[in-house]
Amino acid sequence: MAKRVYLFNEGSKDDRELLGGKGANLCEMTNLGLPVPYGFIITTSTCREYFKAGNRLPALLEQEYRVALDIVEKKMGARFGDPENPLLFSVRSGAPVSMPGMMSTILNLGLNDEITEGLAIKTGNARFAYDSYRRFISMFADVVMGVDGQKFEHEIHQYKATHGKTFDVEMSAQDWQEIIRIYKTLVDFPEDPFTQLKMAVEAVFMSWHTPRAIVYREMANIPDTLGTAVTVQAMVFGNFGDDSGSGVAFTRNPSTGEHLFFGEFLFNAAGEDVVSGVRTPLPVEALKERQPDIYDQLFRTQVLLEKHYRDMQDIEFTIQEGVFYMLQTRSGKRTGRASVKIAVDMVKEGLITESEALMRVSPDHVEAFLHPMVDPAAKTDIIAKGLPASPGGATGRVVFSAEEAEEEVAKGHRVILVRRETTPEDIHGMKVAAGVLTELGGMTSHAAVVARGMGVCAITGCAQISINYAEGLFTTHAGVTVRRDDVITLDGTTGEVMLGDIPKTEASSSDDFQTLLTWADKHRRLKVRANAETPTDAAKARELGAEGIGLCRTEHMFFDADRIDVMRAMILAEDLEERQKYLDILFGFQRADILQLFKVMDGLPVTVRLLDPPLHEFLPSSDEDIAALASHIGKPETKIRQITESMKEVNPMLGFRGCRLSVVYPEITAMQVRAIITAAVEATEQGFKPFPEIMIPLVVNVREIRLITDIIEQAIREVLTGKTVSIPYKIGTMVETPRAALSADRLAEVVEFMSFGTNDLTQMTYGFSRDDVGRFLPAYLAKKLVENDPFVSLDQRAVGRLMQIAVTESRARKPGIKYGICGEHGGDPRSIRFCHELGLDYVSCSPYRVPIARIAAARANVGEDLQD
Ligand code: PEP
Ligand code: MG
Repeated sequence: MAKRVYLFNEGSKDDRELLGGKGANLCEMTNLGLPVPYGFIITTSTCREYFKAGNRLPALLEQEYRVALDIVEKKMGARFGDPENPLLFSVRSGAPVSMPGMMSTILNLGLNDEITEGLAIKTGNARFAYDSYRRFISMFADVVMGVDGQKFEHEIHQYKATHGKTFDVEMSAQDWQEIIRIYKTLVDFPEDPFTQLKMAVEAVFMSWHTPRAIVYREMANIPDTLGTAVTVQAMVFGNFGDDSGSGVAFTRNPSTGEHLFFGEFLFNAAGEDVVSGVRTPLPVEALKERQPDIYDQLFRTQVLLEKHYRDMQDIEFTIQEGVFYMLQTRSGKRTGRASVKIAVDMVKEGLITESEALMRVSPDHVEAFLHPMVDPAAKTDIIAKGLPASPGGATGRVVFSAEEAEEEVAKGHRVILVRRETTPEDIHGMKVAAGVLTELGGMTSHAAVVARGMGVCAITGCAQISINYAEGLFTTHAGVTVRRDDVITLDGTTGEVMLGDIPKTEASSSDDFQTLLTWADKHRRLKVRANAETPTDAAKARELGAEGIGLCRTEHMFFDADRIDVMRAMILAEDLEERQKYLDILFGFQRADILQLFKVMDGLPVTVRLLDPPLHEFLPSSDEDIAALASHIGKPETKIRQITESMKEVNPMLGFRGCRLSVVYPEITAMQVRAIITAAVEATEQGFKPFPEIMIPLVVNVREIRLITDIIEQAIREVLTGKTVSIPYKIGTMVETPRAALSADRLAEVVEFMSFGTNDLTQMTYGFSRDDVGRFLPAYLAKKLVENDPFVSLDQRAVGRLMQIAVTESRARKPGIKYGICGEHGGDPRSIRFCHELGLDYVSCSPYRVPIARIAAARANVGEDLQD
């Protein structure tokens, strides 16, 4: 039978899966000889066993942990349940993957009336004993017995009001005893410590299924099947008096990444007081003056832990009557900027390798370099300042609850969520908000940690505002009143709150970021191109490292006001002569635009896709547009209506699109190819090196490709005849219908490259319309009928299988063929990993995703990651 209970000296940091992250790290610290209060861990596999048995604890479990408990008692020199010399426990959840603050914690477990009295005598500190007991009762009732915690808060509030007290420090031992008496009328509290322990273990297991834990797992892509371990650890007390305290610290600054020890501390306080943001903490340096030896010990410990784990650590410690204890260490959450700086610094310090650095920077972190920032020159109307908890700039309407945030966002508004502090219940609001502003809480408060993790701009601890939820407003110390729906801007990098919509500058890079990207380029095999049509987008893409254009959607080049009517006229033409007239005009636009692209992408491939317009997007629909078009092109309105009507399709997505247009109107294709090749000739004559790739969209069989290739080659001959320049063009196709994927071996006979159009391939594999999926996909996701949105993250089972068949069979037919992907999935890290594994040559994505794709491609090449 597998061992269910491990003592702290029986595991190591490599046992995360079995002992949870917290438990594994407590074992590791114990083995390193650090002062860790002793304890034991019940494994995650016991949690799975519990669920499998229909939520029943294994029969032998209690017996097993009682053996461990005996050993802990000996080590701590105190006994669980002994009024003369009581040992108390903290009982906490701990998943294999960090889920900060998402699950249950119970402190001071093992107290009852008799033991509390004993504790009061033993410690000579009755106030402390009864304070601990009342905290335990309310926490136990709330977490284990499901009694609303607000009830207890309410009782304390009432008691203080009727006894003329405001703060906890004014409460005496007798006051707390009275509170305990009242509490006991609210809950049928179990006096037996072993019953308490058993109930707590069960509650921790059950906490795995609370809605907030489920939401967190969904967001962080953590599998539901892992389960949680239970860590049972001897209590030490930071609230024992003025020579006690609790703190949390990071071995480097989690916002900037600077290599400076950074932490927050409160004297005479329990750990929960520091993280909850109820009291505003002091910087950890405050310890240096009052308890220099302890500060030294803490400082040495954090240096040791960082070296040992080779990563920035987030630590929790407690001081009880001048004795230092380590309670937790884990890899610290950090902003995108910090994550890049720390990874690059650690390579320079010789702590980690370049590949490890790449694995430390998640593609999401890269967004920080790409987010808008509040323009410093444009800052006006700064109405308050708080802590710069999560960087970037955000503007939106003020809302005061997560529900309001969701409602406003559903209406298409951007919102700033303003809360006194946040709890896991607020996550659904934080997820949709552009920014978060809280009145209370430090840099390690819930709001700060969660927003930073999500990359949502946040300001916490903004003591210069007072929120009035009832009236839906906040006032600043300077006397400004901001009401619900007023627009404000947050600068999460400086902590400044401003009235109105302040302009933001484009995101800026950093030397460290560039260094990391250079490493990414060195360690990746997949090339990264961009989907771009305009010279501005193409230039941005190249600046961000694109190695060519993977998809130029030519139909997007005709949307401008001065072009759309020519395009419409061409579509509405009634005979070839009329169509040719407009094609000649379009030729001019097309040639000039593509020349620009060749110049920007000098020396790199530019894949130009032949026209693939869902025709309905181009035709005029409003009376005004029809009237304007009529006067512009000199065609009667009635005629335009009649033709438009005749072109209406029942299902335009599966209609007259893509290469079907070339089949019916070869002259359109001929015009486009002439424009591409003429632009290439001009570019070459001007000293540039164009590499045009002509791509045929939406094919279903090789006959289409043969027909269209003939048109293409004929047009190329027309342009090049008599010219001395040679243009290194290629002809390829998009694989975006299931039939094309399944016939790729035949397609390969004709083409030199294939690019997977996974937007359409997903649409046609699922039969989910790209345009209408918003109506039902949210329900599919909520009901877990699909794991991810298949239009975001490539469905490997079906779409991926089609791609695999296409690659394997076409490569067998023509080994030199090149493969790319240009659907939206080309910028999605998980899909990029799949493309890497499939052996594609490049991914193509929107310009701003290029750096993310470069890093994702390198990560796919150097290691595996659960978060991908
Ligand atoms: C695709 O279908 O994946 C694709 C890139 O083409 P579009 O999105 O233009 O249909
Ligand atoms: Mg397509």
